[in-house]
Amino acid sequence: MTLQIRIAIVGVGKIAIDQHLPAIKSNPNFELVALVSRSAAAGDVPVFASLDAAFAAGLSIDAVAICTPPGIRTEACRVASANGCAILIEKPPAATVSEALELRSMAEAAPVPIFATWHARFASKVVDAANWCRSHTLRAGRIDWLEDARKWHPGQDWLWRKGGFGVFDPGINALSILTALYPHEWGVSNTTFDVPANVDMPISAQFVLTAGEADIAVNFDFRQTPRETWALNLEATDGSTLELTEGGAAIAMNGGERIRSENLEYAAIYERFAHIVRCGESEFDVSPLRLTERAFATAHVKTVAPFIG
Ligand code: NAP
Repeated sequence: MTLQIRIAIVGVGKIAIDQHLPAIKSNPNFELVALVSRSAAAGDVPVFASLDAAFAAGLSIDAVAICTPPGIRTEACRVASANGCAILIEKPPAATVSEALELRSMAEAAPVPIFATWHARFASKVVDAANWCRSHTLRAGRIDWLEDARKWHPGQDWLWRKGGFGVFDPGINALSILTALYPHEWGVSNTTFDVPANVDMPISAQFVLTAGEADIAVNFDFRQTPRETWALNLEATDGSTLELTEGGAAIAMNGGERIRSENLEYAAIYERFAHIVRCGESEFDVSPLRLTERAFATAHVKTVAPFIG
């Protein structure tokens, strides 16, 4: 491998444009060498209709960042693995846990390193929260992950179809933080979904997560306007409290001052990916997806008014 990691992005949609492209461009470990896209225009780098076509053109690629919707990543992973490329995949890694584990097996068989990113785990105050959690036994908590689907996901029809997860597309970020803070075997109960009559996926979800004596009440909703709430509130057995807000970019303890810092999730993700590529060590956790599957498997579904995007 050259000093720089030659990387291609597969799927140039909102997250690739908002986060991956700037993070790659500002990280000297990486050189962007190709886009695989149905829609992107050729610019500084060539655009290919498929990863296969990029290799057929003779391009040297060390790594790929797969930013397509979760249910359609198998082919890109297969081609990347077959060509010895390290793989970064956006969250959630696949539409199901078994599909995700197949992607991991494919990479392991090659072998190439694979990094299933959970960007919210890289939010700036998650490390402080993890320090608090190490010294506190959890008694109870609340997760509120509320945002406006029209503001954050315009035109994303895939998100409302099977394998798109609906309100769990953002909600799984909260589950990724919780499972990083407390990697327990969480049970899921009392699950209710509101599903608009014209789509397949929930627009809101409520459920309870339980581990030992600790219960966490979860509320995901895609109908909140104008401002989003991305908050985890935790309470320890000794009465101490932790409030992680703004998706993990702000923290307050015991009702004290809220401290926030700039969120550089994707800069941190690409630092980690550079390490993963160079050391050949994979990072692949499916626990947030497993919890999501449990919620889907046990949900009482109420059909509600059609969603007009
Ligand atoms: P998006 O805006 O819809 O972009 C997905 C891109 O994938 C499309 O623009 C398209 O790019 C490509 N694609 C290939 N086949 C497709 C198909 N059959 N249907 C739709 N798109 C197809 O979605 P996104 O928001 O970037 O999300 C992509 C992934 O990133 C999801 O797993 C999501 O959970 C995750 N993510 C999103 C955000 C966010 O804020 N939006 C944040 C973090 C993570 P081409 O036209 O280039 O082929």
